[in-house]
Amino acid sequence: MDGTAQLLDIDRRYLVHPLHHPEEHKTPLFVVSAHGAMLRDADGREVIDGLSGLWNVNIGHGRGELADAAAEQMRKVAFASAYVGATNEPAIRLGEKIVKHAYANSSGVYFTTAGAESNEAAFKTARYYWKVKDKPNKIKIISRIHAYHGVTMAAMSATGMSAYHKMFGPLVPGFIQVAAPYAYRWQGNEEPGIGAAEAVEKAILAEGPDTVAAVIAEPVMGAGGVIVPPRTYWDKIQAVLRKYDILLVADEVICGFGRTGSFWGSETFGMKPDIVTMAKQLSAGFMPIAAVMMNQRVYEVLRENSNRNVSFAHGITYSGHPASAACALEVLKIYEEQKIIDRARDLAPHFLRQLHSFADHPLVGECRGVGLVGA
Ligand code: PLP
Repeated sequence: MDGTAQLLDIDRRYLVHPLHHPEEHKTPLFVVSAHGAMLRDADGREVIDGLSGLWNVNIGHGRGELADAAAEQMRKVAFASAYVGATNEPAIRLGEKIVKHAYANSSGVYFTTAGAESNEAAFKTARYYWKVKDKPNKIKIISRIHAYHGVTMAAMSATGMSAYHKMFGPLVPGFIQVAAPYAYRWQGNEEPGIGAAEAVEKAILAEGPDTVAAVIAEPVMGAGGVIVPPRTYWDKIQAVLRKYDILLVADEVICGFGRTGSFWGSETFGMKPDIVTMAKQLSAGFMPIAAVMMNQRVYEVLRENSNRNVSFAHGITYSGHPASAACALEVLKIYEEQKIIDRARDLAPHFLRQLHSFADHPLVGECRGVGLVGA
């Protein structure tokens, strides 16, 4: 048995993979190295990394400066806690930098290590916010069918794809899913924006506005099939959320960092979220780091809370890990210096034109996309 076959044999004996299924792991992609957008597998084959890793490797493989940034930081200190009462420089600098790239009223940043973990933290932040505001019953989270928000317990309960629920139910109580904008179009609705906003409002009224903490949504649904919302969609949803005083969480795990042609997907779609979750492209895939960003309204309740009895008792060991933060800082420097976001915006028309050139193919039902994301 050669080296590769032997390794795969060991893999099958010991590893449990995300979405594990033995049948689907018979001939896995076995990447050994990569450069730019090209992957090289264990048999020496070169393939295009068409999905950019898992939507995260947005400035390519083989960026030595990112390895150096992480390694240099690791040489200084293995780990430095960011739990309250402790901190470290890369986390401080990264938090400041993220806020500088955000909207005018963005303020606080909490670090995690994954998209799902950021969404979990966002749900808890929303609940915390309402408890401090003396509205302890505002606990429910509304999401949309076809949404993907990760698959940890609460994130899975917001994820609107039944395949992820089937073997792990029941879902966490207090998570409600409503129709995606597209579902209305499939049903022949003339004005999908209005119909979809009504779905959110209907759910809020059915649950009781005083029980709903937040709506979570990707600006454009990614894993659910790049479902680009109708032009009026976000205006209408946001009007509903203002009416009933409900927070908006924008899941920017795929849409953030240029993917839709602006720095944030929320910008592309005119969203003004209270909480933003981000992950993948924060480190361009080089290190596991993710974050939750809060606007002033939400961050103020954390910053100005002097009551120890209601402290924000949430945390993870690797929040603000110095090596991950140092690497992400270098990534943001590359985005700035190499004008990556402008490049995404400039390339988008070409990409979308090429994508739409498949529209007449007999096997293609529809082409849709925005910025540099398409299906
Ligand atoms: N949110 C969105 C929009 C995603 O696409 C994903 C993953 O693809 C997640 C959350 C979950 O991120 P992670 O796999 O890092 O937990």
